[in-house]
Amino acid sequence: MFVFRDHLDLDPGASRVEIGFTDASLDLQGGDDRPAFAGDLARVVEEAGVPFARLSQVHGAEVVEVVDEPPRGPAEVPSADGLVTVRPRTGLMIRTADCVPVLLADAVSGVIGAAHAGRAGTALGVVPRTAARMRELGAQRLHAWIGPHVCGRCYEVPAQMRAEVAAVVPQTFSETHAGTPALDLGAGVRAQLEAEQVSVVEVPGCTLEDGALHSYRRDGAAAGRLAGLVWRR
Ligand SMILES: [Zn+2]
Repeated sequence: MFVFRDHLDLDPGASRVEIGFTDASLDLQGGDDRPAFAGDLARVVEEAGVPFARLSQVHGAEVVEVVDEPPRGPAEVPSADGLVTVRPRTGLMIRTADCVPVLLADAVSGVIGAAHAGRAGTALGVVPRTAARMRELGAQRLHAWIGPHVCGRCYEVPAQMRAEVAAVVPQTFSETHAGTPALDLGAGVRAQLEAEQVSVVEVPGCTLEDGALHSYRRDGAAAGRLAGLVWRR
């Protein structure tokens, strides 16, 4: 179910934040109109023991605060690319297949966050915006986990597109194995986080190269979605 698990103990020691990225044995694509989604979501909820808020992701930079318990049944989900919450026993879910899933947690307050950073979201700064929203909610010492995504040697783009994104986030500038223009979104997101004094854990693995992960570039429209999950016990 998980390709990576971690946790962060909160300062008083009474509570902790759990982190997980799912593998291709689950497909969290879509929503309540797809029966297989409901089954895979139920497995996640059972494993974590909390309900998860999720988004209709739109490659933007809007961040939504979750203030109520996420519904366990069919739900209207907001259109945005970042989630934050201060609610205990509440999970946040980001779905990706090559884009960068980022999970965040504050060691002091227990505020958690999650963001979806594709090419557009990285250039728009959805990850630093999510961190900023967490600070507004009391976060003081932020940690981030950058989940599996297409690597900077595989994410080939036209030269003009590379130039546009690298003009905003220079660390994204990359080259494929074949020497053609590429973007390294993971490096860009890491630089954005480190500029905000956020400590970063980068999960190894490239979605396109590793068949145990979902990849849109490899599998096209049939690609599933892996989930980045953060929740507080
Ligand atoms: Zn790769």
